[in-house]
Amino acid sequence: MSSTAHQGQRNLGIESYRCAQCGAQLVYQPGSTQLECPYCGHTTPIAPPAATVEEIPLVFSDKSRLNLELEEDRVVHCNSCAAEFSVGADEVTQSCPFCGSNVVVEAEPKHRIMPNGMLPFYFKEAKGREFLMKWLGSRFWAPNNLKQQALKHGRLDGMYLPYWTYDSDTTTQYTGMRGDHYWETESYTDSNGNSRTRQVRRTAWSFAAGTVFVEFDDVLVLATDSVSEKHGQRLTNWDMHELVPYERQYLVGFHTLRYSRDLERCWGTAQQFMQPEIDDAIRYDIGGDEQRITTKNTNYEANTFKHLLLPVFAGSYRYGKKNYNFLVNGRTGEVQGDAPISFWKVFFAVLLGLIIVGTIAYFYYQGEGSSSSRSSGSSFSNELPF
Ligand SMILES: [Zn+2]
Ligand SMILES: [Zn+2]
Repeated sequence: MSSTAHQGQRNLGIESYRCAQCGAQLVYQPGSTQLECPYCGHTTPIAPPAATVEEIPLVFSDKSRLNLELEEDRVVHCNSCAAEFSVGADEVTQSCPFCGSNVVVEAEPKHRIMPNGMLPFYFKEAKGREFLMKWLGSRFWAPNNLKQQALKHGRLDGMYLPYWTYDSDTTTQYTGMRGDHYWETESYTDSNGNSRTRQVRRTAWSFAAGTVFVEFDDVLVLATDSVSEKHGQRLTNWDMHELVPYERQYLVGFHTLRYSRDLERCWGTAQQFMQPEIDDAIRYDIGGDEQRITTKNTNYEANTFKHLLLPVFAGSYRYGKKNYNFLVNGRTGEVQGDAPISFWKVFFAVLLGLIIVGTIAYFYYQGEGSSSSRSSGSSFSNELPF
């Protein structure tokens, strides 16, 4: 009942989210389940989700099973960097938030795989800024005036990023080598001409082959080229157990990036992300003290995917003559970004390192041959000027 009413509203697009009191466009209130009018404060609850977030079978041969839908929202395309993102019905977009270019045009509606799950924003931009400042303050190698500079020139833009997640049951057949350590007694002649023996470690290699099974759940792959891949992929601290079905009302007031890396391409990326864990399983299966993997052949079965929207505050700040990008996780405050490195901090660290190495070398060569070399080695640290 409520789900059909809700469905009807969805088809009208974002312009339907109007304030009942004054007619202004409502915006989603981070951390809540309601829309709020930024002018009169009137609030409207967002209907609780009618369904749970489901895994969709990954079948490339039959596109009809992939949830392809005609785009409902107003999407703009940047002619300069190719970013595509949704904007509110009334929103005037003069410049691209990613490259600053002002050649943004309305994109033709097209068929896309629509998101089926999301995490709504949990806090507002001001809080995101606090997380950024805390992070900047914790950059050990950063210049001391970085926070003030970033505060002056920093910019944060709340947006939802598209991701794919993949589940897979993998079966891998491998061949390899197992190395077992053993000790051998070796005879040698010391510098005084006496024959002596010593223990030497050797490795016995033997052929190994087998099959390992590894199950993967929600391997997360960034689906856009519009933010730094490094940062987008390193944001991992998501509270995935709080995932809710895709709901457009959570998007109002924020930009939402459309995927530019499709399902098939990112499935390849996901398979790469799975390799280290599969290799670990193979090494464990081979056993012994050392392992070599010669061949492996992986079958991926029971493959499913989800298309998720995850909230971030994206932005950049200027320091000196350079721009530094960052992303703040809109759920947990985790920050991934670039920070300038202070020349002087690095300079003095390297200098300090050289002094320590030089001092050790000095005492080592001074004390070499004498029986007191070890005790002088432990006392010199007190004499360092730092
Ligand atoms: Zn209002
Ligand atoms: Zn652009």
